[in-house]
Amino acid sequence: LSSKLQETFKKLKGKGKISEKDLKEAMREVKLALLEADVNYKVVKEFISSVKDKCLGANVLESLTPGQQVIKIVNDELTTLMGTSESKLNFSDTGITVVMMVGLQGAGKTTMCGKLALNMRKKNKKPLLVACDIYRPAAIKQLQVVGSQIDIPVFSMGDKVKAVDIAKAGVAHAKDQGYNFVIIDTAGRLHIDDDLMGELKDIKAEVKPSEILLVVDSMTGQDAVNVAETFNNEIDVTGVVLTKLDGDTRGGAALSIRHITNKPIKFAGMGEKMNDLEVFHPDRMASRILGMGDVLSLIEKAQQSIDEKEAKQLTDRMMNNDFNFEDYLTAMDQMKKLGPLKKVMEMMPGAGGKELEGLDLEASEKQLDKTKAIIQSMTLKERRNPSLVASSAQRKKRIANGSGSSIQEVNKLIKGFEMMRKSMKQIKGLQKNAKKGLFGK
Ligand code: GDP
Ligand code: MG
Repeated sequence: LSSKLQETFKKLKGKGKISEKDLKEAMREVKLALLEADVNYKVVKEFISSVKDKCLGANVLESLTPGQQVIKIVNDELTTLMGTSESKLNFSDTGITVVMMVGLQGAGKTTMCGKLALNMRKKNKKPLLVACDIYRPAAIKQLQVVGSQIDIPVFSMGDKVKAVDIAKAGVAHAKDQGYNFVIIDTAGRLHIDDDLMGELKDIKAEVKPSEILLVVDSMTGQDAVNVAETFNNEIDVTGVVLTKLDGDTRGGAALSIRHITNKPIKFAGMGEKMNDLEVFHPDRMASRILGMGDVLSLIEKAQQSIDEKEAKQLTDRMMNNDFNFEDYLTAMDQMKKLGPLKKVMEMMPGAGGKELEGLDLEASEKQLDKTKAIIQSMTLKERRNPSLVASSAQRKKRIANGSGSSIQEVNKLIKGFEMMRKSMKQIKGLQKNAKKGLFGK
C-alpha cells in the first residue's frame, strides 16, 4: 500500500509554473504520440509550435505534475482544433435537402449513405437514396441491398445514363414523390483523377447540394491528407465523415484533415451495420489521438476528488511522526475516490493490458478492503495510539474477531504500519541533516 500512497502524493507535487525543461520533456512525449497516431508530420510540427507558447508559463494546478498539466493543455488545444462542439448538418430551407457523398473507392460512402438515411428517418425526414455510382460493378445493387435492409427506397437508372443526369432525375423524383432528404451515392476511384472530379463538379452544379460530405477511411493515415486536400480544393466540401473508427487506428487522420481543410468533421463511422452512425465528438477524438490511455480522465478525477488541504495535513502528520491508523484510513479513502484500482491502473499511460497481467489487482483491492475493515474494528483511542494495539494480544484478538480476519493479518497490518512510520522518520532525519549541511551543498 505504501507505494500506492506515494503515487497519490506524487500527484500533489505540481506547483508554480511550467518550466522550459518540463515542457521539453512533455512535448517529446506528445510529439511521439501524435506521430504514432499517424498524424501528418507537417501538421505535428505546426501544432507543437503553436501549443508551446500556450504551455510556457501556464500555472500548474496543485493536483497535477507539470507533465500532466502540459498534456491537459495539449488535449484542450486538440479538442478546440477539431471543433469544440459537434457540428450539425445543414438543411435546405426550400424543402428538399440534398446531400452528396464523395470520396475514394472503399472509403465507406455507400455504407454511410444508408446510415445517414436511417438516422434522418428517425428524425422524421423522408429520405431517398440515389445511385450515381455507375462504374463499380454491382455498386447499384449494393445500394439497393443497403436500402432494403433499412426499408428506404433507392432511385436508380442503371449504369448507361450519365451520373449527373441520374442525380438530376433523382431530385425531381423526390420532389414528385414527397421525399425531403436526398442522399446521392457517387462513384469513387482508387486514386483521384480528373474525370471523377469533373463528374462530381457537374453533379454539384446541377443539384446544388446543402452538404457535400467527404468520406475518409480513418485507417488510411498519411494518405488521407492528400486526398482531403485535393477533394476540398476541387469541389469545396462542406464537411468530413471519418469511417472505420471501430478499428484500432488512433485516428490521426482526423487531426490532419481538419488542419488541412479547415472543414468540420460531422460524422463518425463506427461499424458496418446500419445503426453505427455517430456524431463526431472532438473531445473523445482528441484523447484517442493522444492515446495517453485515459490519463486525462484520471487527471480530471484526481482534481475533483483529492481534497488538497486534507492531503497536505496528512503529509505533515506523516512527517511529524504522529501519523496514526485514523490517518491511514483517510489516505485509503482518498485512494478509493480515484475509483477501482483496476480502472485507475488502466488509465495510466503505458499501462495497457499486458502490463497489468502480472498484477493481481483484485487481490490488492481485497487487501485494501481488509485493511480498512481491521482499522474500523479498532476503537478511536486505538486508532490514534497505534502502540496500544501493538502491545496487547487481547486487543489484537478482539480486532481480528470484529473484522473477520486472523490475528496474523492484524499483526501484518501493524508491522507494515510500523515500517512505514520508520521510513518516514528516516526521511525526516535526512531532511534535517540536509538543512544542517551535513550532506554538503
Ligand atoms: P464505398 O466504396 O466508398 O462506397 O465504400 P463502401 O460503403 O462500399 O464500404 C467499403 C467497405 O468498408 C465495406 O466492406 C463496408 O462494410 C466497410 N465499412 C464502411 N464503413 C465502415 C465502418 O465504419 N467500419 C467498418 N469496420 N467497416 C466499414
Ligand atoms: Mg460505393
